[in-house]
Amino acid sequence: MLIARTREELADAVTALRARHGGLALVPTMGALHAGHLTLLSVARETARAVSQPAAPAVAASIFVNPTQFGPLEDFGRYPRDEAGDLGKLADAGCDLAWLPDVSVMYPAGDATFIEVGGPALGWEGAARPGHFRGVATVVAKLFGQVRPDAAVFGDKDWQQLQVIRRMAADLSLPVRVIGAPVVRAADGLAMSSRNRFLTPPEKARAPLLYAVLCAARDAMAGGQSAGDALTAGRDRLEENGFVTDYLALVENATLLQTDRAGAGARLIAAARLGGVRLLDNIASA
Ligand code: AMP
Repeated sequence: MLIARTREELADAVTALRARHGGLALVPTMGALHAGHLTLLSVARETARAVSQPAAPAVAASIFVNPTQFGPLEDFGRYPRDEAGDLGKLADAGCDLAWLPDVSVMYPAGDATFIEVGGPALGWEGAARPGHFRGVATVVAKLFGQVRPDAAVFGDKDWQQLQVIRRMAADLSLPVRVIGAPVVRAADGLAMSSRNRFLTPPEKARAPLLYAVLCAARDAMAGGQSAGDALTAGRDRLEENGFVTDYLALVENATLLQTDRAGAGARLIAAARLGGVRLLDNIASA
């Protein structure tokens, strides 16, 4: 696996991989890698294969804990970092290139450009974390410009983020295919996340309820209950079990606008705090 830390090293690595492989797919991450991230690599490999026939495709992963997507009171300082462990996991997963830029590479002295996001970025996480998606969109656009991938893979786990990036890529005519990959869960249903390590054992035991509540809401709506009633029941169940619910909502897939019609075009999304950890999850609504 090639490892690049400067723009020059990255350019050399991308040139070498392009010469050898043809297509290139990128998986952007903030590190502290788990099985969910590694699934994105497999999806990237398959996607890249589709764009680079007949050559074997190349897959790159970036690791960058992006300061601009954290609010002043958020956990940037204590976000888990494990570069050595991450590089081992990426190499084992068959990653071809790890891109590990420094903050000064991503935000050079005198930088003055950010991407302003609207539409799907406005509610939910956008409301709970002002400036978050502005930081995400900006860093992802920079990664696209640096790596110039044919395709980039993001997890459905962060559903709203995926829609914001799709919207950005379409609006800015970025020549990259944005691909979503399914949520990877622990056996108990809890969506894998780098922040799950901060759950205490009793919280860890309770955390799968978030997914259970989403599934119960989906099933209740399939059985004829109104979205409003199903979501109210879900919020009550979360609160009774010690969660502080930020939102539990039914939204249109791409716009994130609230809807009361479950079906193929709608997603159930949730964010709730358990102790000091904010958990995010979402499922198809039908
Ligand atoms: P992060 O390192 O948390 O910024 O995540 C990097 C990428 O991995 C994002 O596209 C996430 O949506 C994705 N991801 C994180 N957790 C999961 C999961 N449990 N299943 C699928 N994708 C995930």
